[in-house]
Amino acid sequence: MTKTFVVIGGDAAGMSAASKAKREDPEREVIVFEKGEWVSYAACGMPYYVKGEVDDLDDLVTVTPEEFREERDVDLHTGTEVVDINSEAQTVTVETGDETYEQPYDDLLVATGASAIEPPFDGLGLEGVFTIHDMVEADAIENYVTDRDPETAAIVGGGYVGIEMAEALSAHGVDVHLYEMLPHILQPFGEAVAEVVEEHLREQGVELHLETAVSGFVGDERVEAVELEDETVAADVAIVGVGVAPNTDLAEEAGIELGPTGAIATDEYGRTNDENVYAAGDNAEATHVVTGESDHVPLALTANRAGRAIGQTITGAPTPTGGTAGTAIVKAFDLGAARTGIIDEDRAREAGFDPVSVTISASTRAHYYPDGAELTVTLVADRESGELLGGTVVGREGTKRIDTVATALTADMTVTELQNADLAYAPPFSPVWDPILTAAKVLAGKLE
Ligand SMILES: Cc1cc2nc3c(=O)[nH]c(=O)nc-3n(C[C@H](O)[C@H](O)[C@H](O)COP(=O)(O)OP(=O)(O)OC[C@H]3O[C@@H](n4cnc5c(N)ncnc54)[C@H](O)[C@@H]3O)c2cc1C
Repeated sequence: MTKTFVVIGGDAAGMSAASKAKREDPEREVIVFEKGEWVSYAACGMPYYVKGEVDDLDDLVTVTPEEFREERDVDLHTGTEVVDINSEAQTVTVETGDETYEQPYDDLLVATGASAIEPPFDGLGLEGVFTIHDMVEADAIENYVTDRDPETAAIVGGGYVGIEMAEALSAHGVDVHLYEMLPHILQPFGEAVAEVVEEHLREQGVELHLETAVSGFVGDERVEAVELEDETVAADVAIVGVGVAPNTDLAEEAGIELGPTGAIATDEYGRTNDENVYAAGDNAEATHVVTGESDHVPLALTANRAGRAIGQTITGAPTPTGGTAGTAIVKAFDLGAARTGIIDEDRAREAGFDPVSVTISASTRAHYYPDGAELTVTLVADRESGELLGGTVVGREGTKRIDTVATALTADMTVTELQNADLAYAPPFSPVWDPILTAAKVLAGKLE
């Protein structure tokens, strides 16, 4: 009898799983329920749509609903919300605009993603106050900025979304104020990287307000100002980017267990405590490759990879969803900043290591070759084992070099092994000793 694979959520994790399952087993019935109208969209590209670098929202779509239905034979239902999972009966309750019905499944993937956190701010409902987590919101922000031509923007939160939106709104000639309640922006990247990015944001005209908590927004119908502890600052548009929370309600109500991070707990194949129910993407945990502990890293590759692996597993080829090193990279105007693994000594100590670290600066190209930039690299290792724990990279070019460090973490390499890696060299691309090799060499010296 044909088995039915039901997927809740039609973006990175969900559509990767649906496509892979159908490809591996064309006979399998694959049904996807997506409550919105967009599927397989690149949320990561939304700030660049608002900025004007991407012309059309449709350009952010990888595979259209029609292509899923007609070319991949996936039974995709948009505008359709799953409101309940009955894990004993192995059914989900589905609501479309005009009907509610039960859909049986053999295997179920919960790929419901995450939602933007909405703090209990006054005035969150005012016109001109936005979060940016889906295509509808991206479209609304772009329309608002184009129609209203705001002079001043308030961005709440100095994470990567806040920084990307600062760049996007600055490109429209808006005076951007960025409010961060902690002493530094980009908390997961560490203080040293944050300070470099902060300086660059200021050079680009962004007004940074560190250690400044926002309590709400004021205005009649439309936002006019942002409220701080002891002052009110004008703002014609506001973006709240204070992080995301995994969408776990549906799963939790069905008895599916959450892990220590508050996201859905899974085994190495993405299976939950219910053997027929899988979870992947921004709503699920992954195992950290350095600490071996559960982590919640809501990023795109983790979602795509886990979805694809689950598509393979349920069609008969058990495939681990893969670990996470928390590898991330962000563009802040002309600067790039990247991180992977454990990025500073304090965090390494908290994880039970005896850390040693180095920070070096080196040119991205041979010293005589034009237009090189200075790259600052930090590497962290464990003193006793020599194991590489993580690092950061910040500079005007070459920050994708973080991938060398991420690869070394995935391969469990020591600093000495990284130092001996045969990395490519030619003057336009790197010095003979790539900055990552230089950092590894200096760190290995400290370990001796
Ligand atoms: C502005 C922005 C920029 C980003 N930039 C980057 C970046 O540069 N690099 C990076 O790695 N990551 C980035 N991300 C994160 C990345 O987009 C996510 O990690 C990825 O989209 C997660 O995919 P997902 O499938 O788990 O969840 P989602 O993309 O959130 O998809 C979940 C889907 O499930 C649907 N859904 C939820 N509940 C139900 C239900 N009950 N019934 C039916 N459908 C339901 C939702 O409508 C949604 O479409 C960015 C995110 C944002 C918002």
